[in-house]
Amino acid sequence: MDREALRQQLSFYRDLKVDTLFVRLPGLAPDNDSLFKIREDMGECTRCKLHKGRNKIVFGDGNDHSRLVFVGEGPGADEDAQGIPFIGRAGQLLTQMIENTASKEGIPLKRKDIYICNVVKCRPPENRTPEPDEMETCGQYLYRQLSVIKPKAICALGATAAKALLARKEGVTRMRGNWFKWNDIPVMVTYHPSYLLRPYNQDAKREAWEDLKKVLHFVYD
Ligand code: URA
Repeated sequence: MDREALRQQLSFYRDLKVDTLFVRLPGLAPDNDSLFKIREDMGECTRCKLHKGRNKIVFGDGNDHSRLVFVGEGPGADEDAQGIPFIGRAGQLLTQMIENTASKEGIPLKRKDIYICNVVKCRPPENRTPEPDEMETCGQYLYRQLSVIKPKAICALGATAAKALLARKEGVTRMRGNWFKWNDIPVMVTYHPSYLLRPYNQDAKREAWEDLKKVLHFVYD
């Protein structure tokens, strides 16, 4: 039902002097949902303004049955060109961090074993932060992706992912290293790899390795 039809129906009940309604809201994720169906529903999406500048929709990548999902902010130039998340410089750092930490900790894990996606699936112009309406529109797909995969844990990379999943006021510096919940699934917040690429962020880099270690042990021990 669209917004106008709903408004008309509600005004019909109000005219009947009905002031209390019990409704069953449709679930955000349809029954028998799958990543394939989500991608199909998304189609050549034009639901928000980000579609205007994109080359490719960057849906997600990796193991559909992963016990761990990483959520970033939105595609950059390399991702937009190839349709795969986290393949540019930040992505290479993320891949290295995952694989090196796992290997050091004796966990047999490669990037292909986990699932990676973003809050918004189209590249924001000049890599700006996604705006609230864009996050909200695209958020339904992230919600469905996470609901289908049902990982044991989620790792939120940076402020946009943390905000989209947890809607809290604190910044990443305060939240990182701690567990939160998204629909009963534990969420670890850590720094976005782009932030770690800046040369003066050596302390943050060390902290992000610690966060990753925590997540990997929680999921794979
Ligand atoms: N930054 C992100 O947040 N996501 C990507 O896919 C690449 C860079």
